Amino acid sequence: MRDPRYDLLFEPLKIGPVTAKNRFFQVPHCNGMGHAMPQAHAAMREVKAEGGWAVVSTEECEIHPSGDVSPYVEARLWDDHDIPALQLMCEKVHAHGALAAIELTHNGPTASNLYSREVLLAPSHQPSKYGYPNQARAMTLADIADYRRWHRAAALRAKRAGFDIVYVYAAHDLSLAMHFLQRRRNQRSDAYGGSLENRVRLLREVLEDTKDAVGDRCAVALRFATEELLGPGGVERAEAQDIVSLLAELPDLWDVNVAAWYNDSVPSRFAREGAQEPFVDFVKRSTTKPVVGVGRFTSPDTMLSQLKRGVLDIIGAARPSIADPFLPRKIEEGRGDDIRECIGCNICVTGDMTITPIRCTQNPTMGEEWRKGWHPERIAPKASDARVLVVGAGPAGLEAARALGQRGYEVLLAEATRAPGGRVTRESSLPGLAEWARVRDWRLQQIARMGNVAIYPDNALSADDVLGFGATHVLLATGARWRRDGYGRSNFFPDDALAADPAVFTPDDVMDGSFAARALAGPVVVFDDDGFYMASVLAEKFRAEGREVLLLTPDDTIAAWSANTLEYRHVHKRLHALGVDMLVAHNLCAHPSTGLGGGALRVAHAWTGAERELPCAALVLVTARVPEEGLLLELRARGAEWADAGVGSVRAIGDADAPGLIAHAVYAGHRAARELDAPADADADAVPFRRHLHSTTT
Ligand code: ADP
Ligand code: SF4
Repeated sequence: MRDPRYDLLFEPLKIGPVTAKNRFFQVPHCNGMGHAMPQAHAAMREVKAEGGWAVVSTEECEIHPSGDVSPYVEARLWDDHDIPALQLMCEKVHAHGALAAIELTHNGPTASNLYSREVLLAPSHQPSKYGYPNQARAMTLADIADYRRWHRAAALRAKRAGFDIVYVYAAHDLSLAMHFLQRRRNQRSDAYGGSLENRVRLLREVLEDTKDAVGDRCAVALRFATEELLGPGGVERAEAQDIVSLLAELPDLWDVNVAAWYNDSVPSRFAREGAQEPFVDFVKRSTTKPVVGVGRFTSPDTMLSQLKRGVLDIIGAARPSIADPFLPRKIEEGRGDDIRECIGCNICVTGDMTITPIRCTQNPTMGEEWRKGWHPERIAPKASDARVLVVGAGPAGLEAARALGQRGYEVLLAEATRAPGGRVTRESSLPGLAEWARVRDWRLQQIARMGNVAIYPDNALSADDVLGFGATHVLLATGARWRRDGYGRSNFFPDDALAADPAVFTPDDVMDGSFAARALAGPVVVFDDDGFYMASVLAEKFRAEGREVLLLTPDDTIAAWSANTLEYRHVHKRLHALGVDMLVAHNLCAHPSTGLGGGALRVAHAWTGAERELPCAALVLVTARVPEEGLLLELRARGAEWADAGVGSVRAIGDADAPGLIAHAVYAGHRAARELDAPADADADAVPFRRHLHSTTT
C-alpha cells in the first residue's frame, strides 16, 4: 500500500473540462517512431498509461506540410489520413484510464520542409535554423490567417482522434507561436511585431482559436518556455513573467520549461534533479490554472516537495517515464524502491536524433513494446530447469542475471572483482557521472530480493571453473578494455611500440588509478578518436587535478557524437570554462611512438599532414576497445568437453561480444535473458522483430 505521505501526488486535478486522476504527467517527448511507426508508438504510450501516468502525451505534432520537420519523425496531423494512427494511441491510453494529450506545432523556420518542399515560414525573413541552405520567408497577414486555420483544423482532427488535451506549443524555439515572441526572429512592424502585446498577439489568437474549436470537450494546454538563456535575443525570465501575466487564465494548463531542448533535457553530467525550478517557479504565482513542469524527477520526495512548496501542481516527466514507465504505480503500491531511476545519460534522445526508435540505458524494453512484444515489468516464466552461469557483473551480466532471475531460472553470477558493476562502477567515479551507478544499484537491489540468483564476487573464473560449475548455459559478460596501441577510426594499424611506451595511458589506467601512480608531471594530451563522452570527462578530471590538458582529435570538432545526447554545447562550455586546450583536425603521426618522448608529441594535420610538436608528459588514448574474450576463446577450443560438463551453450554478451554503450550492454543482457529457451524460429534468417510494412495502395 502507498505511503500516506504521498497522497497529494494521487489527488485528482481538474484541467479545464477534463480531470487527471493523479499528478503524474508524461509530457511530450520525441521517440524516433512517430508517424512512421504508429503501432510501435501507440504501444510505447500504452505502457506509460498502464504504468499509472494520468496524462500521456504525443511528441510534437506537425499540423501542415509547410512545417515538415523531416528527416526527424514526429507525430503528424496534416489531414484526415493521419487521424487513425493517433486514434490508435488514444484508444490504448484510454484503456488504462489515462488522458491523451497532443502537442500541435508548426515549426516555422525550425522546420526543414525537406520532404514537402514547401517554402519555410517565419515571422520575418531569416535563415532556416538547422543549417539548410535556404531561408524562411516573412509571413504575410494572409499566411498568418492560413496558419491559424491549419492549427484550428488540426485541433479539430485531434479531438476526432480522441485526445483529451490539445497543446498550443510555444517552447523549445520550435514553433511559430514562440518565434513570434522572440525579438531575434520577429522584426515585424505590424500588429504582430514590436511591442510585447503585439508579439504575444498570435499566441493569444491561437489559444483562443483552439479553445473555441475544441475547448468544449478538450483542455487546452500551453507549453511555454520561460527562459532561453540567450540574453536579450531570447525569451528571458522577466519578459516571460509579463507574458504569463498577459495570458494567465487563457490556457487550461501551463506546461513550462527552459528552452531550447538542450537546456530542457540537460544530462545529469550538467544538471541535477529539479534544476528548472528557478526558471519556472514564478508561473504559479501568476495564474490560478494548474502548472506542470519537468526536472528529471525520480524521487517521490522531490516530487512531493514541488507540490507542497507550490512550485508545480503536476509532476511532468519525459525521461523518468522512459526509464520507468511504471513509476507512478510503484509509488502508489508502496514500491518506491523499485523505481528504475533515470541516470540522465540522454541515450533516449539519440533515437530522435538518429531517426531510429527510442532506446534507454536503464529500460531495455523502451521502444521494443510492439516490435518485440517486450514489457518493462513482465517477462515470460522460465521454460526449463536450466541453471545459468553469468560471468561478469557489469551492466550486461547484471541485467541478464536479473531478468533470468525474474523468469525464475537459477542463476549464478560470478564477478572477478570485489565490487560489482563493471564499467558502470568505474565510470561513475569520473566527474559528473555519479548517477550512472544507478544502472548497477537498481539491478543489485532487485537481485538481492531473488532467492534464485546468487552473486559470487571476488571470483575470476577460468575455463576450468566454468566447466566445473555444472551450468546448462553460460553467458560471458566479461567486458572490454581500452586499447593502448592507437588503433581506431583514424589510425588503421595497431602500433606495438606505442602500446609499450610508459608515457601512454588508457581510460582504464585512469579509472584504476595507475595513471595517477605512474604519469609524470606535466601536460596531458587526451587523444580522442572516439567522439563521445570519455575524452572530455577525462580532460575535466585532469583539469580538476590541476594538470595542463590538451584535448586532441582528428575530428573537426570536439565530442562530435555528443550532439546526439544534447551534451555538445554543455561539453564545450565546460571545457572552455575549465581552461582545457583543444586542438581539432590533428592526428597522431604515422609512427607516433617515435614522436612521443622528451616531453613532446608530434601530431599531423588530418587533411594536409603538416606536422607540429606539442608539449606532452602523458598521452591518454581514447580510441577503441577490445573485448575480454580470452575465456570465450578457450571455452570454444574445449567444445568437446562441454557435454560431459553439462554445458549446452556458451556465448558472449555486451562489451565482451562487441564493445558499445552501456545501453547496448544492458540491452544485450536483457535480450539474452528473454531469448533463453525461446522456441527457435522455423526460418533461421527471419527478421527478429515486427516491422511496419508499407501498403502499395494510395
Ligand atoms: P559490460 O558492459 O558488457 O557489462 P563490463 O566491462 O562493464 O562489461 O563488465 C565486465 C565485468 O566482468 C567486470 O566487472 C569484470 O571484472 C568481470 N570479469 C571479466 N572477466 C571475468 C572472469 N573471468 N570471471 C569473472 N568476472 C570477470
Ligand atoms: Fe534516462 Fe538515460 Fe533512459 Fe534517457 S536513456 S531515460 S536519460 S536513463
